[in-house]
Amino acid sequence: MDFNQHIRVIPDFPKPGISFKDITTLLGNGPAYREAIDALKKQVEHLKIDLIAGPEARGFVVGAPLAYALGVGFVPIRKSGKLPYKTVEVEYELEYGTDRLAMHVDAVQPGQNVLIADDLLATGGTIATAVDLVRQLGGNVVGAAFLIELEELNGRSRLDNVEVFNLIQG
Ligand code: 5GP
Repeated sequence: MDFNQHIRVIPDFPKPGISFKDITTLLGNGPAYREAIDALKKQVEHLKIDLIAGPEARGFVVGAPLAYALGVGFVPIRKSGKLPYKTVEVEYELEYGTDRLAMHVDAVQPGQNVLIADDLLATGGTIATAVDLVRQLGGNVVGAAFLIELEELNGRSRLDNVEVFNLIQG
């Protein structure tokens, strides 16, 4: 399947000059969504994955069905202040200012193999923060899987020793 045909490109969103890749059109198409998750599953199933971790919110719609398909657990990575139990947090740079991502302190057990999943890899800031969190908990990051990788932004250069998987190179 040409997954790219299910991605809607919105020019100048969220601001002028940005060409936003809208994945809701893929998610809304049952056969395309299923085939996309199955295709990602095929790319990563050789890894010995114990858990999938995904950042809110679009990381959930990729990571959770992938975890279900692989029969492994899913753990959420959330914005600071959303998780109810004790957390580990990492601050990261946004274009203007900073934000914090958080995970429960017991979400990953030391030595567990964790795959990180999100919809799109751009500059890599979000996923580098997710990798940092998982490693702080003692997890072993075995890969990062995306529907779309914007290769020209070279986000994978920020992911040292993490294998990157994608369905679409944007
Ligand atoms: P990065 O941190 O790699 O620069 O940006 C990736 C994060 O921003 C991902 O969590 C992703 O959801 C969001 N993002 C950035 N640009 C786009 C885009 O064009 N389309 C979608 N769907 N998400 C984007």
